Amino acid sequence: MSLLPPWFEDACNEVNAALAAERLAHGLLIHEDPGAGGLEFARWVAQRVNCTVPARAPCGECQECRWIAADQHPDVTRLSPEGDSTQILIQSVRDLAADLALTSHGRGYKVAIVAPAEAMNHFAANALLKTLEEPPKRTLVLLVTSQPSRLLPTLRSRCSRLRLAGPSREKAAAYLAAARGAGPWLEALAATGAGPFVLLDADPAALAHLRADTISTLRDIGSGNLQPPAVAEHWAKNELSIRLSCLESWVTESILESASIRDVTHLSGEALAPKICRLFEFSDAIRDMRKLAHTSINKTMAVEAMLWRWARP
Ligand SMILES: [Zn+2]
Repeated sequence: MSLLPPWFEDACNEVNAALAAERLAHGLLIHEDPGAGGLEFARWVAQRVNCTVPARAPCGECQECRWIAADQHPDVTRLSPEGDSTQILIQSVRDLAADLALTSHGRGYKVAIVAPAEAMNHFAANALLKTLEEPPKRTLVLLVTSQPSRLLPTLRSRCSRLRLAGPSREKAAAYLAAARGAGPWLEALAATGAGPFVLLDADPAALAHLRADTISTLRDIGSGNLQPPAVAEHWAKNELSIRLSCLESWVTESILESASIRDVTHLSGEALAPKICRLFEFSDAIRDMRKLAHTSINKTMAVEAMLWRWARP
């Protein structure tokens, strides 16, 4: 994908300024909002330092740029959890360190992209620390994470931090429409609650449909037209995580809406308080359900319990 997201601009400018002043750090911690495109930005940095057209680097067209975009550049290594593992292991980091110590194939930088960086286990992170303490010349280590607090403090302190804030939902939808073509992107983004890069391969119509179905079902439960046991099993077995995201974003929007009604109409808190309280209580119920979703608890019962907290008493 060659479309540079407009919300990358500040971070790109920071890298350009550091390069111009010849003070680009060997380690960069790219702190992204979930789905903001941290990995894509890391590829941009790798292209920026390896592009063979300096006047407009990264040009996106030279061989170096194209290889990096396709994850095929011999001097750009990407570390991610492999196979079924959720961790990046020490051997991968050792192989990487040995590779970084070799001279680059071209005239550019050797670049390591670790994404997500918090997937490194303790041993792997310590091994990487050594590389960052004694970096070979013309090497760059890019750590991509949306949870920097989960990295070793010593690792964080060795890196220069770049913030990649996610776009508004409208900008994210415009970006996805340009990249993927027209579709109900706003609804799809609301369904997952994540940034646009999570949705690059998604089917927006299916997500929008799931969101509409989830919210209308919840409304029916709230008005007493439907009982929680009638839907709990179906929800527990079908896209539960996305349904919970749909509920979370709907509750947040409903709370904001209620608050703005109060501001505009100057309705006393008394008229709206029960509604807002109910929304906050249901928000707690969703959060409890999220915690349980990763355990071995009977999910159908847990979903039913959550929905009873919204049902009319
Ligand atoms: Zn180029």
